[in-house]
Amino acid sequence: MKGFEYLQKELDAMQKQGIFRNLIELKSEQGSKVMIDGRNVIQLSSNNYLGLTNHPRLKKAALAAIEQFGAGTGSVRTIAGTFTMHNRLEEKLAKFKHTEAALVFQSGFTTNQGVLSAILTDEDVVISDELNHASIIDGIRLTKATRKVYQHVDMESLEQTLKETQEYRKRLIVTDGVFSMDGDIAPLPAIVELAEKYDALVMVDDAHGSGVLGENGRGTVNHFGLDGRVHIQVGTLSKAIGVLGGYVASTRTLIDYLIHKARPFLFSTSHPPAVTMACIEAVDVLLEEPERIDKLWNNTKFLKEGLNILGFNTGHSETPITPVIVGDEGLSRQFSDKLLQNGVFAQGIAFPTVAQGKARIRTIVTAQHSQDELQQALKAFENAGKELGII
Ligand code: PMP
Repeated sequence: MKGFEYLQKELDAMQKQGIFRNLIELKSEQGSKVMIDGRNVIQLSSNNYLGLTNHPRLKKAALAAIEQFGAGTGSVRTIAGTFTMHNRLEEKLAKFKHTEAALVFQSGFTTNQGVLSAILTDEDVVISDELNHASIIDGIRLTKATRKVYQHVDMESLEQTLKETQEYRKRLIVTDGVFSMDGDIAPLPAIVELAEKYDALVMVDDAHGSGVLGENGRGTVNHFGLDGRVHIQVGTLSKAIGVLGGYVASTRTLIDYLIHKARPFLFSTSHPPAVTMACIEAVDVLLEEPERIDKLWNNTKFLKEGLNILGFNTGHSETPITPVIVGDEGLSRQFSDKLLQNGVFAQGIAFPTVAQGKARIRTIVTAQHSQDELQQALKAFENAGKELGII
């Protein structure tokens, strides 16, 4: 069919630049190793931090939910799609995050979009870290609020912006808790202090901090001892929790408001029973198996130190997300291909996901990896890195 030649032209240009991507197919469950092109390779690209995607308890809960309640829910939450299990999951998440209430959305992406677009008007200003996730950026685009961007984790830049925006009705500072491409942690104590000084609200997207940082993985806010001082915490159910969805944890007032105003919540069908029950089980596993988080951190330290000793540039990472920054988009692509040939699946990340000239391999270790696997991965990095002249 004719009509999309203009798009094909752009794709052809991307091919030339080496940034066109074929989707890589996995033929096995999401483990420490995955089957790609008929080979079992070490998985360093998934967000399955704690190995919960295939935890026996989650699988059992999902199967039982299907048996009892069926495959789907048949309605949005506000019409006929709220089952007892949806409310139970939200109560559990609120308790987990030490907040009054929580609300589940279809994904972390739509949570950010839904929250930001619901609570801000043209009388308000939203103040966002320059490296915030795309879902925050898109959520901000949906509001009529004035947009301000401060330099990444730069508190002088944030304070300057707060000083310049005193005339607005509300000011909302929004930041990732853990930055998804760099693995650094937002300086939340300083952000909260500034917010209190200038009477602003704070929203933290803790997609990569939940299940990873804080007591039993309660997240970045808890990690810094800031429970009760951050107005809005967003989390995802699709990374450490291992299933699918997003949630916001906050006050009863905010949650009630979102139930009435957040468009992705209002107009999209609720989570199927299998997803909801598996998420409930996952929160229990987090509370009952803290050793998973300890293992995640031991593995994090091992891989990060290994990469640094080899001489790779891992930026300012402090978490299980460790970027190996190479700069050039084409080189990053070649590096990723070579790693795969050497038995390691570690995706190259290029523009527009990261800035131009900041292409990288992003590694994520999980609690599932054995030290032996990580040692093999380091050997593959060494071989590929030397072959390409990166180290
Ligand atoms: N926020 C951040 C910081 C993320 O990294 C992601 C995942 N890519 C999301 C939100 C979206 O979460 P989900 O995959 O659940 O839509």
